[in-house]
Amino acid sequence: MKAAPFEYFRASTLAEACAQLAEHGADAKLIAGGQSLVPMMAMRLARPAWLIDIRRLEELQRIESRNDPVSSADDVVSVGAAVRQCVIERDPLARASLPLLGRALKWVGHVQTRNRGTVGGSIVHADPSAEIPLVTCVLDAVLELRDAAGATDVPAREFFLAPMVTAIAPEQCLAEIRFPVWKGARVGSAFEEVSIRQGDFALVSACAQVALDADGKCIRAALGIGGASPFPQALPEIGERLAGTQLDDRTIVDAADAAAKLIDPDGDLHATAAYRRHLARVLVERVLRSAREDVR
Ligand SMILES: Cc1cc2nc3c(=O)[nH]c(=O)nc-3n(C[C@H](O)[C@H](O)[C@H](O)COP(=O)(O)OP(=O)(O)OC[C@H]3O[C@@H](n4cnc5c(N)ncnc54)[C@H](O)[C@@H]3O)c2cc1C
Repeated sequence: MKAAPFEYFRASTLAEACAQLAEHGADAKLIAGGQSLVPMMAMRLARPAWLIDIRRLEELQRIESRNDPVSSADDVVSVGAAVRQCVIERDPLARASLPLLGRALKWVGHVQTRNRGTVGGSIVHADPSAEIPLVTCVLDAVLELRDAAGATDVPAREFFLAPMVTAIAPEQCLAEIRFPVWKGARVGSAFEEVSIRQGDFALVSACAQVALDADGKCIRAALGIGGASPFPQALPEIGERLAGTQLDDRTIVDAADAAAKLIDPDGDLHATAAYRRHLARVLVERVLRSAREDVR
């Protein structure tokens, strides 16, 4: 099938894109990498009357560190929404500061889709199995939404509402994603998933980031599960439980059991609910072990 007819506008500034969204409202859709939207349009699951192209906007292409040398809180790395996924894989700042995002990207589609697909497009598309949304929730990132009136910050953990449903309004553009960077800690991270074929969306995924002190004690942990709920699920209660432990094998097994009890997966053609819960338990155990071994 081919897409229904539409008008095309290439924005040259973010303000111009927001003005177009304000004018056309729900009749318009932003297009970034087109890796999800174009197939949706070809299947006529999406029929925007207007496509507003933000792919070339310089303002949405930046990757910046917002370090605060005085504050004891986390540093922040800000990623523009139209930064392509392949750029994150190669960018020195992103690689050094956001290792979990880099690990997640290896599981996102294929080299060809990552060459065009953007970080922001994946977040707004909000597939419950998508890897980038899971990382934003686990790291407790903040999403900056822009419209003609200004900017609004939304925590990633409040952004995803249901499969492919988010808190963004039709007149808003996701402008940047601000990832906390754990300061002054020895950090390790891991991302694992099970899918039917390499490059397919995950049946279930899990990721973790841990920080250890000089004696090997866990001082901070964050983890989450994708594909097993209507939206990516961070599990801060398990992270809190791991902080202060030696992160030994017994502790990890107990944490994985507890994590699997916190999700309520659905069964479908590809996997039963019980199998998804089993995968979640196994994958959480694996990512916690791997993150512990990855600490440097
Ligand atoms: C073969 C194949 C395999 C794939 N496998 C995976 C996979 O394993 N894991 C995975 O996560 N994804 C996968 N994808 C999807 C891919 O990651 C897409 O890149 C991503 O979902 C959308 O990014 P995009 O930049 O292409 O967005 P687009 O397709 O351009 O847009 C997607 C949606 O987001 C909206 N949008 C885009 N940018 C913004 C913005 N800044 N503000 C507001 N709205 C915006 C659009 O209006 C649209 O509704 C796959 C895609 C293909 C074709």
